[in-house]
Amino acid sequence: MRLIFLGPPGAGKGTQAKLLTERYGIPQLSTGDMLRAAVAQATEVGKRAKAVMDAGQLVSDEIVNEIVSDRIDAPDCAKGFILDGYPRTVPQAVALDRMLESKGLKLDAVIELKVDEAALVRRMENRVAETVAAGGTVRSDDNPEAFKRRLTEYREKTAPLSEYYAGTGQLKTVDGMADVNTVTAEIEKILA
Ligand code: AMP
Repeated sequence: MRLIFLGPPGAGKGTQAKLLTERYGIPQLSTGDMLRAAVAQATEVGKRAKAVMDAGQLVSDEIVNEIVSDRIDAPDCAKGFILDGYPRTVPQAVALDRMLESKGLKLDAVIELKVDEAALVRRMENRVAETVAAGGTVRSDDNPEAFKRRLTEYREKTAPLSEYYAGTGQLKTVDGMADVNTVTAEIEKILA
């Protein structure tokens, strides 16, 4: 099973991807998590990505394409994977198509979580409050200014992907405003 989750920041992509990893026994490949790990380890990629991420902007297509291409070659991706936060631009989607073709792989579905934008800032604030309550570290881009920028980046660069995948006949849309279990059930219906 090879899936892509599309949707703005705070739409629930990460939450749903995590739930599906258990159900299907395939890993969640979050480019955001991979980049944050690179920043934490101060690798070359991490050093190049940090300021861009903190500002809520997108890291270059070249960097993320390479990270994803390497990651899907790992043995734990043999049965499939769930892409969360990638592709995020049309050139990344084109690169992914080429990448999969060269590896002899195909996507099973692209699932878009549709959400009301006004709810997203509230969700980000809740995520911050939950992280603080659990004694965790708040993401450096989970603040109102960077979040606004992330939403703008989404509108300008990522939203056109819906049309791209509608064009390939792979796009499935789910109401991301419903509660977590309902959203999961809707996704499972699509994948059944
Ligand atoms: P996320 O955890 O998916 O919200 O990603 C956090 C940040 O990582 C984004 O705001 C970008 O700066 C960067 N990032 C993650 N995935 C990508 C991607 N596919 N293309 C470019 N930048 C990305």
